[in-house]
Amino acid sequence: MEYLADEIAVMYLGQLVEQGTRERVFGAPAQPYTQALLSAAPVPDPVQQRSRQAVLLGDDIPSAMDPPSGCRFHTRCPLAVQQCVDEVPILRRIPGGTAACHFVKEDGSGPDVRLIDGPSRWRPAGPHDADPHDADPHDAAARSPQTHQTRNPG
Ligand code: SF4
Repeated sequence: MEYLADEIAVMYLGQLVEQGTRERVFGAPAQPYTQALLSAAPVPDPVQQRSRQAVLLGDDIPSAMDPPSGCRFHTRCPLAVQQCVDEVPILRRIPGGTAACHFVKEDGSGPDVRLIDGPSRWRPAGPHDADPHDADPHDAAARSPQTHQTRNPG
């Protein structure tokens, strides 16, 4: 796809979650589902491919006929919080395209699921839980294909 298209659109359960130029989507995917999806895509360089690791998502894939409330990706997104269950994220314009996630900012910065260590599933936040959006995986400055390693596909 990277070599065939100028514009990329990514959908999850029938909804557009990210769209943009090939360079922007492949170089700096903003939406967590796009980040996870691209982390599992093979690259033609065998050396680079050996060092790549895919983000592991929960395998509880909802039905498009009965999609989850709020953000449809919330049942599998490692970064989901209550707001993701309650509110549908708007498709926000960002440099080089659009992205639908409550935590992607207008400048395209936001969370990065590729920086999370280990698979994770959403659960209701307890009173003593730290806000996961304060952690490094959400550090926009760290989001770059060159600055992280993801985990083995599996
Ligand atoms: S952080 Fe929330 S809004 Fe963003 S992709 Fe994950 S579940 Fe959706």
